[in-house]
This record gives sequence, C-alpha cells and structure tokens, in this order.
Amino acid sequence: MNLTENLIHKAETYGAHNYHPLPLVLRKGHAAEVVDVDGNRYLDFLSCYSALNFGHQHPVLVKALLDQLEKLAVCSRAFYAEEFGYFSEELAKFTGLEMVLAMNSGAEACETAIKIARKWGYEKKRVAHDQANIICFENNFHGRTVTIVSFSTDPEYRDGFGPFTPGFKIVPFNDPQAVENVIDKNTVGIFIEPIQAEAGILIPDRGYLKKLRNICDRNNILLMVDEIQTGLGRTGSDFCFQHDGIQPDLLILGKSLGGGLLPISAVVGNKSVMEVIRPGQHGSTFGGNPLACAVARAALKVLREEGLSQRALHLGKKVLERLTHVPSSIIREVRGQGLLIGIELKESAGGARKYCEALAKRGVLCKETHQHVIRVAPPLNIPEAALDQGITQIISVLSGT
Ligand SMILES: *Cc1c(COP(=O)(O)O)cnc(C)c1O
Repeated sequence: MNLTENLIHKAETYGAHNYHPLPLVLRKGHAAEVVDVDGNRYLDFLSCYSALNFGHQHPVLVKALLDQLEKLAVCSRAFYAEEFGYFSEELAKFTGLEMVLAMNSGAEACETAIKIARKWGYEKKRVAHDQANIICFENNFHGRTVTIVSFSTDPEYRDGFGPFTPGFKIVPFNDPQAVENVIDKNTVGIFIEPIQAEAGILIPDRGYLKKLRNICDRNNILLMVDEIQTGLGRTGSDFCFQHDGIQPDLLILGKSLGGGLLPISAVVGNKSVMEVIRPGQHGSTFGGNPLACAVARAALKVLREEGLSQRALHLGKKVLERLTHVPSSIIREVRGQGLLIGIELKESAGGARKYCEALAKRGVLCKETHQHVIRVAPPLNIPEAALDQGITQIISVLSGT
C-alpha cells in the first residue's frame, strides 16, 4: 500500500463511516489550494461547505488566532472575557441586530434558535404550555441533532434515529401560501435557509423572503433565517436576506464565522427576543470562548476590508454566465447566487459523483450534493485566474472534452 492507500485504510478501519470522501488525503492548505500527501495540488471548490469563505490559513486570521492563543484561549462564561464583549458588539452591529448568543457548531446554533423561539412564544406571545410549533421546509438542512433531523424530509438524515421531537410543521419551499395555510395561534417561528444549499442549491423566487417577513409581521411570528452556509459574503452580499431588503428576527451563523480555523456559531436577534433567555437557561462550555471570538472578529474584518461580498457577486455572475453556456448534453440546470452555484446533471448522467472524481484527477475538488448536483463554491478570495482555470476544467469534464 502506498501512503494514500494506507491512510485511507486507517480512516476506514478506525473511523466511523459517516462520510464517503473522495479518495485523496490532504496534508496542507493555503488560500484556495490544498496539497495531498503525495504532493498533488488541488483547487478547493468546496470550501468546507462554506466554512472557508476566506480560504485556507488566511494570514490575518492565523495571526489573530496565534495572538489570542498566547493570551487566553478558553475560560468559560463563568467570567467575562475581553474578546467576548468586543465580538458580541461587532457581530450585532454587523448584522443590524442587537444581541448575540455564541455557540460552537451550526447545529447547536439552530437548536439554540429553536429554544429561543419557543421560549419567546410562551413568554411574549402567550402560547399555551408546550404547544408551540415552528414551520420548516421540505428538503431543509439545519444539522444533525435529533431535534433537527426530526423535521428533516430526507430519509437518509432521519431513518433509524427516532423517536423524534414534536412541534414542527413542514411545508413546500418557495410557496408563501403553503406557509399561511398551516399557521395557527401556536406558531412561533418560520425556520428557513434563504437558499437551500444542501438540497442542491435551490434558490427561491425573488421576494420570497420578503413575503415570509410580511407573513411573520401580520401573525406575530419570528422569522428565523439560517445563514450558516449563505452568510458572510457567499451569495454576493454580507447576508443572503439582504437581497430581499429585510431583517430576520433570529439570524443563525456558523461555518465561516470561525474564519476557516475553528468552530464558532451564533444566534443574533433583537433584545425583545433574546432577553427571554436568562442566566442558567442555556449555555455551552466552549461557546463564545476568547480564541473563537478573536478569530471571528478578524473574520468579519477580513470580509469587510477585502470586499469579499462584492467580489462574490462579481465573480459569481461571471462563473454563472460561463456555466450556463456549456455545450453539454448531461447538464439539466445551472443555478447560483454569488459564489454558491449548483450544476444539476440529468439523471441519465448517472450521478454527480463520478464527475467529481474525474475533476479531482484534474486538480479541482468539488463534491456532489445529493445525487445529481455538483456544488461550485470556491473561497471568496480565490484569485480570478485560478477560478477561471477550475471552471475550465469543470466545463471540460462536463462536455466530455
Ligand atoms: C452546515 C450547516 C448547518 C450545520 O452546521 P454544523 O456546524 O455542521 O453543525 C446548519 N445549517 C446549514 C444551512 C448548514 O449549511
């Protein structure tokens, strides 16, 4: 066995099989490029599902991490940490909302938003004890905890993991009337991804979020927007909800908030909602630790100072333009906003995986999302020449040249 085979063998023997990775073993990363243990170079067009909007090992972020590491990494929320106050203020102001609750993973932040919405329902909306419901959407993805998979519609995410948490109503995505039809007096929230990324980059009609905002306002319901994947520049604005000119009541962030270096997630909302959580009612040992806060502050700074949202908008348009003109008999549709792009293949193509494997051989790392979609989501600061080169490879593989 060579080194690659040996390391894959170890991973498959001693690691649980909860992923099905492409058969390569990475050792190093820098900006939009990664290198495997055999020294092969690849362009990273997955960006860790948008945790790497700033690329690998961004020097400003690495420095922020190292500087903080020398001071204080973890101290628990039993004390105030210097970075925590700065981080909370900066994130709140950046989102246009008032208060931040910091956690670690995306799923935890989604769970936190669900808890806040329910508690808000009981305390502020006077919903009857334990009767709150939240409206979710077909094909949603919000993480992997039991409560979150309770309202998944994907058998792969759900089957075998019951019994499930009650209190969720599922309606079709991109259909405002379907939402209105299921609202009742106990509805406390509408929980939505502004673009359903894991489902295959499903983009709703323009103005959809605005319609949901309106429905929420008329019915005294919280609009809970999961921007873990779409936030921080990915779709060509700081947050995807800005394309619709609205504000959510609860904004959920994760992934790139940690600058591609470590996990940190957050729920952000206005005081009138966030104040329902009081000391002792929710928490996390590592949530809001100073190391993560320092990196997140630097991430927000890099996003702003490098103009990455505008860059994603500009480059996304160019990429979409190129991909929609590919002479290929296997492409069904190309969808995208900013640098979150999906190429859906026809069923006759036999699944997206083999094209991702072919692309890896040509030095471009993409991952299939669901069976038939290739996701194109490079770091937002990828050099334009590298981006062009990767897209050329994709076009070449899909047009069989
Ligand atoms: C990745 C993701 C999550 C879950 O985040 P984890 O950090 O993997 O728990 C939730 N929602 C969306 C939209 C995501 O893309």
